[in-house]
Amino acid sequence: MRDRLLFLLSKYGIRPKDTIGQHFIIVEDVIRKAVETADVNEKDVVLEIGPGLGFLTNELAKRAKKVYAIELDRKMIQILKNEYKWNNVEIIEGDAIKLEWPEFNKVVSNIPYQISSPFTFKLLKKDFELAVVMYQLEFALRMTARPGSKNYSRLSLMTQALADVEIVMKIGRGAFYPRPKVDSALVVIRPRKDKVELNENLVKALFQHRRKTVSRALKDSIHMLGITKDKLKEIKHIIESVPYSSKRVFQLVPNDVKEIEEYLRNHGIIS
Ligand code: SAH
Repeated sequence: MRDRLLFLLSKYGIRPKDTIGQHFIIVEDVIRKAVETADVNEKDVVLEIGPGLGFLTNELAKRAKKVYAIELDRKMIQILKNEYKWNNVEIIEGDAIKLEWPEFNKVVSNIPYQISSPFTFKLLKKDFELAVVMYQLEFALRMTARPGSKNYSRLSLMTQALADVEIVMKIGRGAFYPRPKVDSALVVIRPRKDKVELNENLVKALFQHRRKTVSRALKDSIHMLGITKDKLKEIKHIIESVPYSSKRVFQLVPNDVKEIEEYLRNHGIIS
């Protein structure tokens, strides 16, 4: 694979662009693991973000009914069109964050790491069966961190409110060309049946102070809920009897935040 990649790069005279996350996967086992974890089969419509030189796309095309591949780099698209004779792959040119996505039931992607956050939040708003995605290891650890643990953050809570997430395997930097400065991980995302839709503003306000208690964090971030500091005196007693008031923010599970949200709404603090 490495040979094939170097061949294509020289044939088309291109240099991978770090600015748009061009690090191509060159280990067949990693590609196989991704495709097998997603259990891609002839019923699936798969969305891939950033097909690059098409190594993963090609495996998806062999197994899926249909593959949509969104690619930003026009040069990559020319190469894909020139090198492969797929009849079930539709390449869409553009920015995967800005574009409207077609309908799909699975996602399998080695995404450019710059778009990890907006990609994940966009994905979690959709209705789908499963996603298998390569992320930077640190990001994957934050996404999958359990409540109360060191890496548990706004990302963990927001993700786990909507999906079950799990690291399937770690991937060393040697599995990519050019070699990135960070390690990676393969993550599987399965939307929950009992999604907890959270007020994003409230979650942001709380996680400004992830090590503080809930009532302290709310007081310190009250401006983020549209309340001025001088009005805080009037509502202090409400904030102090909020559910989980003495729990630390980084120990909250999605349902705790939902209860806090409902309490604040019932007391007219948020709408
Ligand atoms: N999946 C391929 C390539 C991964 S590199 C492989 O594993 O080998 C990431 C790819 O995403 C590059 O081809 C890059 O051009 C593309 N890309 C970067 N930003 C993008 C964006 N905003 N929307 C769609 N594709 C993007």
